[in-house]
Amino acid sequence: MENKVIVKGLVKNFGNLEVLKGMDVEVKDGEVVCLIGPSGSGKSTFLRCLNRLESITGGQVIIDGYDITDKNTDINKVRENIGMVFQHFNLFPHKTVMENITMAPVELKKMTQEQAEAVGESLLKEVGLAEKADVYPAQLSGGQKQRVAIARALAMHPDIMLFDEPTSALDPEMVGEVLNVMKTLAKQGMTMVVVTHEMGFAREVADRIIFMDGGYIVEEGTPEEVLGHPKEERTINFLNQVL
Ligand code: ADP
Ligand code: MG
Repeated sequence: MENKVIVKGLVKNFGNLEVLKGMDVEVKDGEVVCLIGPSGSGKSTFLRCLNRLESITGGQVIIDGYDITDKNTDINKVRENIGMVFQHFNLFPHKTVMENITMAPVELKKMTQEQAEAVGESLLKEVGLAEKADVYPAQLSGGQKQRVAIARALAMHPDIMLFDEPTSALDPEMVGEVLNVMKTLAKQGMTMVVVTHEMGFAREVADRIIFMDGGYIVEEGTPEEVLGHPKEERTINFLNQVL
């Protein structure tokens, strides 16, 4: 499967509000795509349409070869292969770190409890939190919570990871530790779509950057093209504000 994600003419309305006005995006296996753009431009909505957390008004979204806009597609099966990390972690507060990580794989019968814990241990090691398995989220810093959230998503062995501003809610000194985990993941060949305002990360890690505004793609290309030599006035204005 060369293309992990194929989006054709994606339209999303909330009532009378047209939020996505026909987006075409393809993401190849192992590619890292960073999505940038002003607040309200539709970045989160786009990401949420990729696993149908939002109903899709029009167009087609194909994930791993499954058309998720087709009513006959088992969306829960497709979702098992899509990890999602949000700005606000969304960890279960009354479960330990390890329980947060093992819950989905065990409930969805991907693994036994023992297998899930073994996977959990190795993932916690990878994100630098081996010693935190038995603590509760409230005992963690924001950066640690977000690294647990990433480990939790990875426990399902997803083949696509979606990140929605994973560092926006963090204190500045914790941004780096989360970006480093994401960089490692990218190097390991994970297919990633990342909404971010971290232009340094986008420049270093993205294979492609998409700049969107007002519900459609204004410009896309390599980091060098979009960040270094933006062509469109709206891209230039946006970059002047964030860089
Ligand atoms: P971004 O992530 O780029 O900041 P969003 O995708 O969150 O943008 O939002 C795009 C537009 O869609 C905004 O105008 C927002 O108010 C609107 N919107 C998002 N979610 C909803 C919703 N559930 N109901 C109504 N409008 C929404
Ligand atoms: Mg958003």
